[in-house]
Amino acid sequence: MLSSVIDCVSVPALYIVPTPIGNLQDITYRALSVLRQVDCVAAEDTRRTHILLNFFSIRVSLCVLNQHNEFKKIPILISKLQAGLSVALVSDAGTPLINDPGYLLVKSCQKARIRIIPLPGPCAAITALCGSGLPTHRFCFEGFLPHKRNLRIGRLQVLLEESRTLIFYDVKHRIIETLQDIASVFGLERYVVLARELTKVWESIDGAPIGQLLSWVQEDNSRIQGEIVLVVAGHSLKRKKLSPKVFSVMKLLASELSVKRAATLVGYIYGVRKNVLYKKYLREKSNKIKDQSHLIDDMV
Ligand code: SAM
Repeated sequence: MLSSVIDCVSVPALYIVPTPIGNLQDITYRALSVLRQVDCVAAEDTRRTHILLNFFSIRVSLCVLNQHNEFKKIPILISKLQAGLSVALVSDAGTPLINDPGYLLVKSCQKARIRIIPLPGPCAAITALCGSGLPTHRFCFEGFLPHKRNLRIGRLQVLLEESRTLIFYDVKHRIIETLQDIASVFGLERYVVLARELTKVWESIDGAPIGQLLSWVQEDNSRIQGEIVLVVAGHSLKRKKLSPKVFSVMKLLASELSVKRAATLVGYIYGVRKNVLYKKYLREKSNKIKDQSHLIDDMV
C-alpha cells in the first residue's frame, strides 16, 4: 500500500541515497528531498556528487567517505549522528554499498543504535537483470570477478553449477578476458547478456551463447565501450538430452585421442558435462563388446 508523502527527513538518521547510473532523470523525488534536508552528505567522490547536486541546485555540506578513509571518517560521522544530525550516504553512481563504500558505516551505525533509512533507487545490476530476458525469480549478484586469472577461474568453477541467473560487474579493459574465462569454465553454449551504458545515450543489451557473443564483441571494439554488466544464464538443472551430432563428434575424437581428452574437448565445445560424454561412450563400447561376444558364442 502506498503511504502518503511524508516530510522526508523527519528523524535524524543515516539515509542511504541511490543516485543515477547515467540518466539524471532517474533520481527519485524522495532522494532529492533527503539531499536537500540533511545536515551533511557523505560522498565517495565529492567532485562527482557536486555535479549532481549542482544540477538539482542543492546546497549542502559535503564530506568524503571512501574505501581509503572509511575507518577514520566513521567515528566523526557517528558522533554527528549521535548529536542528532542527519547524514546522507551517496556513492559515485547507483546504490551505495553495492560494490561501493558504506558497509562499514552501516555496521557501525547499527552497533551504535543509530537509525538507518535506506532509499530504493537506481542499481546497474537490477537494471541489467530486468532487461536481460533471463529468469529473474532467483538470481545471485557476484559483483566483480577477481582480477587475477587463476582466482577468476577458481570463482567461476565454484559457480559452474549455480542454477540462479548470475550478475557480474565488469570493466571494458577486462571484459574479453572475462568472457573467455566464462566460456572456458561454463562452455561455449552458456547464454550471456552484455548490458552496456545502461540508461545512457548508447545503451545496448545483447545476448547470445557465449561463443557467439565473444566473436561478436571481437569484431567491433565499440561493442564493449563504456560501463558493462554481464548477466549469465544459470546452470540448467534439467539434464540436456545428448544430441546424436554431439555424440558422433565424441566418437570421432575418441578414435583419435584418449576418451578422457575427447570428452573434455567435446564438453567444452558444446557445453555438455564431460562425465556424461565419458560414461555414455564407455557404456556404448561395452554394449558393443557384449553384442559381439554373443555373435562369437553363436558361431562356436
Ligand atoms: N553502486 C553501483 C550500482 O548500484 O550499480 C555499482 C558501482 S560499481 C563500482 C561500478 C560498476 O557498475 C561498473 O563497472 C559496471 O559494471 C556497473 N555499472 C554502473 N553503471 C552502469 C551503467 N550505466 N551501465 C552498465 N553498467 C554500469
